[in-house]
Amino acid sequence: MPNPEPPSPAELLHLRGRTLEKGEPIALPLTLASMYHLPGDPAGFPGYGRSDNPTWEAAEKALGHLEAAEAVLFPSGMAAVAAPLFALLAAGDRVLLPSDGYYTTRLLADRVLARLGVTFDLRPTAGFAEGGFAGYRLVFVESPSNPGLDLCDIADVAAGVRAAGGLTVVDNTTMTPFGQRPLDLGADIVVASDTKAPGGHSDILMGHVASRDPALVAAIREWRKLSGSIPGPFEAWLLHRSLETLELRLDRMCRTAGIVAERLATHPAVRAIRYPGLPKDHAHNLATRQMLRPGFLIGLTLASGAAADAFIAACRFLRPATSFGGVHTSAERRDRWGDAVAPGFVRLAIGCEPAEELWAALEAALSAGG
Ligand code: PLP
Repeated sequence: MPNPEPPSPAELLHLRGRTLEKGEPIALPLTLASMYHLPGDPAGFPGYGRSDNPTWEAAEKALGHLEAAEAVLFPSGMAAVAAPLFALLAAGDRVLLPSDGYYTTRLLADRVLARLGVTFDLRPTAGFAEGGFAGYRLVFVESPSNPGLDLCDIADVAAGVRAAGGLTVVDNTTMTPFGQRPLDLGADIVVASDTKAPGGHSDILMGHVASRDPALVAAIREWRKLSGSIPGPFEAWLLHRSLETLELRLDRMCRTAGIVAERLATHPAVRAIRYPGLPKDHAHNLATRQMLRPGFLIGLTLASGAAADAFIAACRFLRPATSFGGVHTSAERRDRWGDAVAPGFVRLAIGCEPAEELWAALEAALSAGG
C-alpha cells in the first residue's frame, strides 16, 4: 500500500474562491433557513432545513477535500460515531470495539445497540488483529486510542476485516486527516469528533463521517435525514472557518508536543510516558509508517493521583478540562472518569502556545512537586 499523501492546505483555502461569481463574498456566508422558495417541481432544489443547508455543504466540501472522500456533517463526534452503527447494522449483527477507546462508544453499544439485538466484543487496541475478524459485520478501530494512546496497524486490520466480509470504521479524532488517513489505509469509513482539533477553539461540538463508497454515504445521509441528527448552521460555519487554520495549528501543536514529550521523558517526576513520536515508544515504528504526524496528545504518569492533580493546578498554562485539541493546552487526570489507567495518568493535550513558554510553565509545575 503506498504511503498516504497529506491533503493540500492551499487547495483547501481556495475551494470556495474558485466557485465564486463576480461580487460574491470571499468568506462563506452563514445561511440560517428551515424553508426554501420552492415553486413547482422540487426535484434537485434545496427543500427543507433538515436535509439541505448551504453552510453545511461548504463545511462538508472542505472536509471532503481533507478526506479525499464524501463527508457528511453531524452535530457532534458521538452523532458521527453513532451514524454508521445505526445506518448499517441490523439485529443479529456482531461488532468488534476497542476495549481502551473512547468510553462513550462502548456505552452506546452496551446501553442501546445490545437492546436492539446487535452484540459486541471488546479487544485492546494493541494486538487488535489477534483473534481475527470472522463473524463481525463491523469492526470499529481507534488508533491512537483515547486516552491510552495505543496503536494498531490500520491497513492490516482493514485488510483482515475485508477478507472476512466485514466493514472497518476508524475513529480518527485524535489525529485529523492531516495526521492520519484511514481511508488511504483501507478503511471503509472514517468518523471523527470535529469538536477537537478541527474546531480547535473549544467553542463548538461537531463531527463527520466520510467514505469513498457511495452506497455507504447514501445510507449515512439517509440516517441523518430520518433521525434529524443535523448540525446547526452556525456551528457548521464556525467549523468551516476553523478548518482553514487546522494545518497551521496542528503543525504547531505536534511540533511542540514532540519537544515537550522528549523533555518529559527524562524528567525525574515522570514515571511513564506515552507519545508515539518518541523513538523509545513501543509503537514508534508503526506510528512512523501509518501516521503523517505524531499527534498532540501525550500520556504521562506521575507518582500518584494527588501529584497529578497538583501538577495540573500549579501550571499557569494548563486548563484542567476534559476534551482536547483546542488552542489552549489542557490536561486531565483520566482516572477521575474511571478510565483503565493509573491514578497518576494525565492526558496532556498540547495547544498553540510557543513551545519554550509552555515548557517553562510545565517544568515549573512539575518541579513544584507534581
Ligand atoms: N471519539 C473520540 C476518540 C473522542 O475522544 C470523543 C470525545 O472526546 C468522541 C469521539 C466524541 O466526540 P463529541 O464529544 O464531539 O461527541
